[in-house]
Amino acid sequence: MTTLEIRDLHVSVETEQGAKEILKGVDLTVRSGETHAIMGPNGSGKSTLAYSIAGHPKYVVTSGSVTLDGEDVLEMDIDERARAGLFLAMQYPVEVPGVTVSNFLRTAKTAIDGESPKLRTWVKDVKTSMENLRMDPAFAERNVNEGFSGGEKKRHEILQMELLKPKIAVLDETDSGLDVDALRVVSEGVNRVREASDMGVLLITHYTRILNYIKPDFVHVFVDGKIAEEGGPELADRLEAEGYDRFLKVKA
Ligand code: ADP
Ligand code: MG
Ligand code: MG
Repeated sequence: MTTLEIRDLHVSVETEQGAKEILKGVDLTVRSGETHAIMGPNGSGKSTLAYSIAGHPKYVVTSGSVTLDGEDVLEMDIDERARAGLFLAMQYPVEVPGVTVSNFLRTAKTAIDGESPKLRTWVKDVKTSMENLRMDPAFAERNVNEGFSGGEKKRHEILQMELLKPKIAVLDETDSGLDVDALRVVSEGVNRVREASDMGVLLITHYTRILNYIKPDFVHVFVDGKIAEEGGPELADRLEAEGYDRFLKVKA
């Protein structure tokens, strides 16, 4: 049983007008086997939460804590976070010149497990995962993120998740441009890992669409840098019907 605990998290970014507080006291607990959806209007700070957990240097934690089974995540470097069992999709958003998907995955797996995976099972695992995600085998020999389409980036992200077998995955579905086919492939990937393991998921999304495929146990509505309302899956249905208006009116 793994627990990711976020306590009264305050995060700022440096702007030309000085520090601007974006997260204003976030409290959230994600346990093994649970899927939490964070939903909210654009600009409410959802991606900032993901970046903060990932340790993006632009986002400065001014107070509060993030722990994984009591260990201070904010003190860990990026590799340590991955070794501790956190999967943060936005960790590798950049092009990695000259590194193929295949080598990248094996290096990441080796770093996380502390030993290189057995070649025969590894090759088989990669092949199976790629087939599941309906990826062309040639994709493995392409350089990471070089010229990847939105859908390919997403598939690569889910491929990593399937192979690295994290304890808790944080997925920021910033990409509203996913076509229905890519959306389904991504969702099926997440569901496959959820079924095969006890992975906890923090799924961040503006749209309710993906929640038709990935059923959340808990829904949290994010408004102006903190959680404004919490509930079960029915809350996502209500947001689908009503949008975020009632939260924005309260704020105004
Ligand atoms: P969401 O993902 O919910 O759309 P974000 O976390 O991307 O929201 O952004 C929240 C707020 O923080 C927005 O007002 C955005 O402009 C601001 N913000 C985010 N990142 C930065 C940054 N690096 N510099 C300045 N402002 C930022
Ligand atoms: Mg506070
Ligand atoms: Mg965002």
